Amino acid sequence: MTLDTAFTGYANPSLHAQGLYIGGKWEAGQGIPVLDPSTGNTLAEVPDASIDDAMRAVDAAEAAASEWRGTPPRQRSEILRRWFTLMTDHAEELALLISLENGKALTDARGEVAYAAEFFRWYAEEATRIGGEFRHTPSGAHNILVDHEPIGIAVLITPWNFPAAMATRKIGPALAAGCTVILKPASETPLTAYAMARLGAEAGVPEGVVNVLTTTTPGPVTSAMLADPRVRKLSFTGSTGVGRTLLAEASKSVVSCSMELGGNAPFVVFDDADLEAALDGAMVAKMRNGGEACTAANRFYVQSGIHDAFVEGLTTRMAKLKLGAGYAPDTQCGPMITINAVEKIDRLVSEAKSRGARATIGGDPMPGSGYYYPPTVLENVPTDAALAHEEIFGPVAAVYRFESEEDAITLANDTEYGLAAYVYSRDIMRAMRVGRGIETGMIGINRGLMSDPAAPFGGTKQSGLGREGGVTGILEFMEPKYFAVEF
Ligand code: NAP
Repeated sequence: MTLDTAFTGYANPSLHAQGLYIGGKWEAGQGIPVLDPSTGNTLAEVPDASIDDAMRAVDAAEAAASEWRGTPPRQRSEILRRWFTLMTDHAEELALLISLENGKALTDARGEVAYAAEFFRWYAEEATRIGGEFRHTPSGAHNILVDHEPIGIAVLITPWNFPAAMATRKIGPALAAGCTVILKPASETPLTAYAMARLGAEAGVPEGVVNVLTTTTPGPVTSAMLADPRVRKLSFTGSTGVGRTLLAEASKSVVSCSMELGGNAPFVVFDDADLEAALDGAMVAKMRNGGEACTAANRFYVQSGIHDAFVEGLTTRMAKLKLGAGYAPDTQCGPMITINAVEKIDRLVSEAKSRGARATIGGDPMPGSGYYYPPTVLENVPTDAALAHEEIFGPVAAVYRFESEEDAITLANDTEYGLAAYVYSRDIMRAMRVGRGIETGMIGINRGLMSDPAAPFGGTKQSGLGREGGVTGILEFMEPKYFAVEF
């Protein structure tokens, strides 16, 4: 498919970004070019919001807050459910849009749209199940009644790697809880967020309940919103570095924070693993989104007895991948998001190679236009190589050898991150034991994919605070209120 044809598909006027989305109105503007990573060409331009624009978005969220909070859960639920249906009806256009601005293969983009829409369906269901708590005090003096109230206006900041799902994973629970929001999507991929806002309006989301703005000055704009006492929640997904900065900013006004940050997932394969299943899982855990996922397997620890067969099998599978523009129908691995991303991958791979790592496939950047890096497998990687400690965020599988179960756990935990890990073994007792020993918020046991709207997603250590999705995800947008009652 040429870019022109792809763009015609996207050029569904009902999904076009029309400017900032504040208080249910579109405000035209320009200033942020959105690029197609497969060519570097500009697809569209979106507005560059100022601090004043952001404060108007807070005003709009405030104006809508009390009515939305008072809207019966069943009605909030039905609006979210309609939004789910509209996303599903427009799945193909949204997938194309994601592929165009993010570069990921259409199959990955379709998977993302389905995953993203599910957060609206899941939280449509959870909206009507918000519970409380009742207890007797041990002393018998009174009773404890706990209600959950919407926390208030929430600022939602999302990354470029899942432009739809990272937004719905926040908007779904926030709206279900009764909060109004201001969404700031990543500058690289704002078109999907604006398209979803249009579908939200069609689903019946009242004016001001969801506001969307893009900006080239996210630091000052976010600080201004966090300093406003009406804003009570920051839900951020992105890098650990920016997360730390935002935690410091939020501390000034003691704003509640949920942080979904970076990862460095180990993928541990024991000798007794089903090799074909481990390779299938490895391809999913490594190559979904071309490796640009926070849960992406960043370090493959493979036990000595199965190591060589694993490297050979992974190399064969990587060699078969079709590289190309995400929106081309047969592409399996698209371009990286920016040229900086390619340069970072190149730096990490070059450092590992200079220290003895060997590429069994790939290992060098590609000439030509577009931000491509080829599928790569590295073996003989030193465990203190930079790519063992930094997120690669690309299609590079670094394989390390280990001998004992204890070694595997020690190596897996040798990182400041604690988001996700994968363990492959036919001995389920061992897999669970090792899973317990690994310090992460999520473990895939004989599975290369763990994300599910019904599961609590999140990390430990420097990978974040709080959980998104699942039954607890809605509580991130609620404040418990305790009533001491005597009766
Ligand atoms: P990023 O650079 O941290 O940016 C994330 C978002 O923060 C973007 O919207 C960005 O806006 C904004 N931002 C940047 N600086 C800011 C500041 N000073 N104040 C307020 N907002 C600011 O991360 P990214 O490169 O987009 O995403 C990749 C990272 O996200 C990886 O580390 C990945 O592991 C992580 N991630 C984590 C999860 C998870 O669930 N744990 C999921 C997906 C991704 P601009 O685009 O305008 O700069």
